[in-house]
Amino acid sequence: MSLGEFDLIRHYFTRPSRDAGVVLGVGDDAAILAVPPGEQLLVSTDTLVGGRHFPDSTDPEAIGWKALAVNLSDLAAMGATPRWCVLALTVPTADMDFLASFAQGFHTLAQQAGIDLVGGDTARGPLSITITVMGTVPAGQALRRDGARAGDGIYVSGMTGDAGLGLALVDGTGPVLPNDLALQAWQRLDRPEPRLALGLALRGLASSAIDISDGLLQDLGHILERSDAGATLDVETLPFSPALRACNPGQALAWALAAGDDYELCFTVPPEREAEVPALAAQLGLALTRIGCVDTMPGLRCIRQGEPFAPPAAGFQHFRPTS
Ligand code: ADP
Ligand code: MG
Repeated sequence: MSLGEFDLIRHYFTRPSRDAGVVLGVGDDAAILAVPPGEQLLVSTDTLVGGRHFPDSTDPEAIGWKALAVNLSDLAAMGATPRWCVLALTVPTADMDFLASFAQGFHTLAQQAGIDLVGGDTARGPLSITITVMGTVPAGQALRRDGARAGDGIYVSGMTGDAGLGLALVDGTGPVLPNDLALQAWQRLDRPEPRLALGLALRGLASSAIDISDGLLQDLGHILERSDAGATLDVETLPFSPALRACNPGQALAWALAAGDDYELCFTVPPEREAEVPALAAQLGLALTRIGCVDTMPGLRCIRQGEPFAPPAAGFQHFRPTS
């Protein structure tokens, strides 16, 4: 059986709204949303293109999860509460197996994150998913990239580099690892966990934050640029997962510093507040590791065992300058 466009939308993408701010959801020409008084609206969008942002072999359920996760990660980085999203979905055919799995992955995470799908667009063409997420914060409390100051500690959540390893395993260039470790890295690639609870907890504590989508060095570089600051990063302190620890150390370090798709948060904390970080990590059950310090000298310097260390190639860019 094949579904028409409207049946498809009704069947896979219409769910009752959970958020009281949804005055009108899917079904009209536009959604009507009410931002709570005293809050600001944060809006972000991200596109995932088949074969570009995920391997063509990716499980459709993981595609649905990840398409939303990468968007939620941007809200997490701003300290926003997720509220609403719209989904522009382009698929080659109305393949019901694909759509059912995709919708399953999408709605599972949407439910977990408490975000409502309030509209979208559905078209035929090469597989591409664009999601726009909307979140709210109490006015003036959003985390931004431009607040880092010399002396602030630099932290990273969870572990970085696993998604890079996962991608190498999927495309056959990765190391041979025990099954359970390979599976963990692969999961980190396919089902990133947006750090929403951390983002909320960092409001009023972190001086700046960003989510790591394009590699730690590159994304931390964005904080430094926006904050007009520099930093020194001690690569010895980077948190490695068991999977990464089982790899060649140089290769593991390259993934941890420069591979994309981890969706951890990198944030800075003023020195007088750093003592609060370990308690927060314990409360969230999430590693929060101090990896360096903001300073006044422009640029990002890496050190290893006290000596300058030249990092591997920078992170991911779709359009790399040709110099
Ligand atoms: P229009 O022609 O006015 O743009 P559409 O026919 O594209 O409207 O969509 C009908 C309704 O279904 C709209 O409310 C739209 O927001 C919603 N919608 C369309 N595609 C999706 C989707 N993939 N997910 C969620 N809602 C969707
Ligand atoms: Mg439309």
